[in-house]
Amino acid sequence: MQSHKTPKGMKVIDHINQAKETLVSFEVLPPLKGKNIASLYQHLDPLMEFKPSFINVTYHRSEHIFKKKQDGNFEKVEVRKRPGTVGICAAIMNHYQIDAVPHLICGGFTKRETEDALIDLNFLGIDNVLVLRGDATKNEASFEPEPNGNKYAIDLLEQVGRLNNGIYLEEDIREGFRTNFCMGVAGYPEKHFEAPNMDSDMRYLKAKVDAGAEYIVTQMFFDNSKYFEFVEKCRANDIHIPIIPGLKPLTSKKQLTVIPRIFHVDLPTDLINDMNKSKTDAESEQVGMNWLIHQSKELKKAGVPVLHYYTLGKPLIIRDAVAQVF
Ligand code: FAD
Repeated sequence: MQSHKTPKGMKVIDHINQAKETLVSFEVLPPLKGKNIASLYQHLDPLMEFKPSFINVTYHRSEHIFKKKQDGNFEKVEVRKRPGTVGICAAIMNHYQIDAVPHLICGGFTKRETEDALIDLNFLGIDNVLVLRGDATKNEASFEPEPNGNKYAIDLLEQVGRLNNGIYLEEDIREGFRTNFCMGVAGYPEKHFEAPNMDSDMRYLKAKVDAGAEYIVTQMFFDNSKYFEFVEKCRANDIHIPIIPGLKPLTSKKQLTVIPRIFHVDLPTDLINDMNKSKTDAESEQVGMNWLIHQSKELKKAGVPVLHYYTLGKPLIIRDAVAQVF
């Protein structure tokens, strides 16, 4: 019988610990429903020359929208625009032999559904997860966990941690199989928007580390000094795990207002001025790319563990920028 070999996964923390220099990683969104996996490979292919150590795949929960019916009335329907995170991770690992990191969120999941998703990941040989809370849906004023779901990222971390110790929700499972997940968490150099202040956000970040997080990936930032200050603050708060900077290029003038609104980050005045001087879309992209190259070079020089790029539909800009850095 022919044997089918699946790639042997490596943990993100092992990639970091074994590295002699700054690594590269990318983050992708699952394709929109209706597209196939080839569209994702087309997105990733140009980035493979940099031999990324791992590729993150975001998670998108379903939303309720109001859809107009033929009779003019509206009906409430559930839509999920980007399904497939787990399948995509398995596909990436098979297709590229590169470790994939699924984002795992609290929102929309009961603890039992989370446990089953973790079992699926384990069966697929996926030993990495980025553990997140998720945001409120468009119809919620603030984030609401599912009944019997996890409320904060730390609750989800603790659930994964229990499974790593062979403790399942079913109490009658004795000496259950111990999963072996390496857990990353999110960190916010400019503070999470709901946190009353940075000290409070730091306290909860430290709690996530104490609950088993092995590394932090930051929210995007456009001013490196925000990252360096954040790392300093983490170290002062007894957080000593690797802190991976997350980077995204600004690609249009419109993003000067959209990015701060969606991601709650500040843009440096020089970047705003340069972007406002651009006259065409191509010039705007060039401005964003130059800024990304400048940020990346400085961070690499400072010896960050990994440069993690949010590709968000712009793989060619990322490719051209990364080519100037590595
Ligand atoms: P938490 O760590 O739970 O923190 C949320 C807020 O609650 C913070 O203000 C924190 O200070 C506070 N807090 C934490 N613990 C407690 C506690 N015990 N008691 C009181 N307050 C507490 N979203 C998606 O839906 N899908 C994705 O794929 C995704 N990927 C992301 C990747 C990265 C790198 C980042 C930075 C964010 C990502 N997000 C994603 C967005 C993320 O889900 C949101 O930013 C969310 O609002 C917070 O998630 P968290 O894991 O940081 O939450």
